[in-house]
Amino acid sequence: MVLTAPRRLEPRELPLPEIGHDDALLRVEACGICGSDYEQFEGVLRTPVPVIPGHEPLGVIERIGDGAARRWGVDAGDRVAVETMLSCRFCPPCLAGQYHLCRARRIYSYVPLAEAPGLWGAYAEFMYLDANSIVHRVDPALPAELAVMFNPLGAGFRWAVEIAGTGPGARVAILGPGQRGLASVVACREAGAGTIIVTGLEADARKLELAREFGAHHTVDVQNDDAGRRIRELTDGLGADVVIDVSSYSTAPVADALDYAAPGGTVVLAGVKGFEPIPDFVSDKIVLKELTVRGAIGVTSSGYDRAIRLIESGRYPLARMHTHDFGLRDAELAIRTLARQVEGEASIHSCLLPGREA
Ligand SMILES: [Zn+2]
Ligand SMILES: [Zn+2]
Repeated sequence: MVLTAPRRLEPRELPLPEIGHDDALLRVEACGICGSDYEQFEGVLRTPVPVIPGHEPLGVIERIGDGAARRWGVDAGDRVAVETMLSCRFCPPCLAGQYHLCRARRIYSYVPLAEAPGLWGAYAEFMYLDANSIVHRVDPALPAELAVMFNPLGAGFRWAVEIAGTGPGARVAILGPGQRGLASVVACREAGAGTIIVTGLEADARKLELAREFGAHHTVDVQNDDAGRRIRELTDGLGADVVIDVSSYSTAPVADALDYAAPGGTVVLAGVKGFEPIPDFVSDKIVLKELTVRGAIGVTSSGYDRAIRLIESGRYPLARMHTHDFGLRDAELAIRTLARQVEGEASIHSCLLPGREA
């Protein structure tokens, strides 16, 4: 499915590329749908067109060059999760181990169709794997729609645990109960957090219920309860050691996070706000409480690895978070469902299953 202009997705036939020594071809089993897919579709995010969207691919290696097979440690027939970012490996951030900040960073689904071989996104039956790809083996016995959760769950591990420094006993407040908020619950639970509080809206009742099933100790409906007071009560009057904002397009949680955090605490901002300024953002609260405020974008290998091992362990009822499967040609419906534009449908985690097309 090719995005040819904002809000226009069209089916196209492309030739399968020749594979060389260092690259590979993936047969796509599933592609997770995320908020940025909607932004790309609407043209809010700067994106080349035409382009094949889809940056959360799970699939089976169809063909692979000898060099890639050796470097990646996989072979044809292996099921893999593919990392979203392509990094150069040689710039200063790459050499410092921060490859997600690579100066020459490229992102699958944002490489134009015009650049050979064109198959740079996972809204497709096959996807090209560049020589700089990073792939992770995944248990082939898992249902594809569950295995493809490696992406949101990886974000939970990186944002709510690795960046936040969440450890045993930590008191954590997670603002927003979407797929990344729920993933953060699971990740914090795995990290041994002592108190996990999730906030959401009245309309999020089902998601907040899932948060509790996944291990949140408390949930707060911010429209019908005083979240600041509740969080203080639940943290012995101190506030949360870690506050993670994974709400999208809502600016209030950013200002509120400074109130919810305990002195010396850490606030992780991972939800995008469409470049809107934050009303009532009082920086003195950061000064007086000596807060650490961190941004979080993307996931790196350690987060993906932990996510995949966790899915394989079967220790959490993650399938309960999965709400929708779509065929490849229904990509637009999938995006609109995630964006709550389809009446009566409440998506949490959804994916395309290109392989199951009739
Ligand atoms: Zn994504
Ligand atoms: Zn680099």
